[in-house]
Amino acid sequence: MNERKTILILGGTGEARQLAGRLVALGHDVTSSLAGRTATPRLPAGKVRIGGFGGAEGLAAFLRAGGFTLLIDATHPFAARISANAVAASAEAGVPLIRLERPAWVAPAGTAWIEVDTIAEAARALPDGARALLTIGRQEIGAFAGRTDCHFIARVIDVPDDVPLGWEIVATRGPFSVAGETELMATRGITHLVSKNSGGDQAAAKLEAAAALGVKVVMVRRPILPEAETVAGIEEVLNGFR
Ligand code: NAP
Repeated sequence: MNERKTILILGGTGEARQLAGRLVALGHDVTSSLAGRTATPRLPAGKVRIGGFGGAEGLAAFLRAGGFTLLIDATHPFAARISANAVAASAEAGVPLIRLERPAWVAPAGTAWIEVDTIAEAARALPDGARALLTIGRQEIGAFAGRTDCHFIARVIDVPDDVPLGWEIVATRGPFSVAGETELMATRGITHLVSKNSGGDQAAAKLEAAAALGVKVVMVRRPILPEAETVAGIEEVLNGFR
């Protein structure tokens, strides 16, 4: 092994968990950080700490106190605040940062995507009478509550506290298969799929199923993040360790 590194991974994604496992197996001292949003998170190998740091300054202090030699931001592409904090904290603490960012999805040929910048815009984009499958997580489904002219099925990991009247909640965790996604959309008579442009393979089955069924996709574009050294996959991160 090259020099043993003390690594903080900002996680909350499947890739972050896999990366932690690979780096621990290589003999590095790895701590993964989770925000604490999910009741029963799948825990990665190595050390785990849960909860916010208290902004960029808190993260910088944590990096210094722990003697970390590398920070890896492997959070979800829509977790914009922690990614911005990672850039600021890396500069402040003098700890190099690598961002692991899976490539965004692009519309398959021949499919109609409605691309929007925000969840609120996605809610406005649905036509009257739409039967929409929401795959945007639990925290922002409230944006659709006013669309009482539409029917909603929300897929989430944890059941939200406030479920609008008449909504169906499907509480489950990926990865999902094309067959499973096709069945979910077909049995519910889904006309629109609302998704964040998360990218990656784990959630891509819904797009294939939607294309095959003629379900329209309302895709929320990614937030713009401050610049950082960025790699697209786990192997690229690991290349830097060989
Ligand atoms: P966010 O808006 O970027 O972050 C809000 C605050 O939560 C941050 O300022 C930070 O608090 C804390 N935080 C976020 N990620 C953290 C982490 N990995 N470790 C410690 N603290 C963290 O984040 P979010 O969109 O709410 O996402 C929260 C977590 O869920 C992320 O770890 C992300 O990878 C995961 N996730 C998000 C989505 C999504 O669609 N947003 C989807 C799947 C998974 P302090 O400022 O106090 O440090």
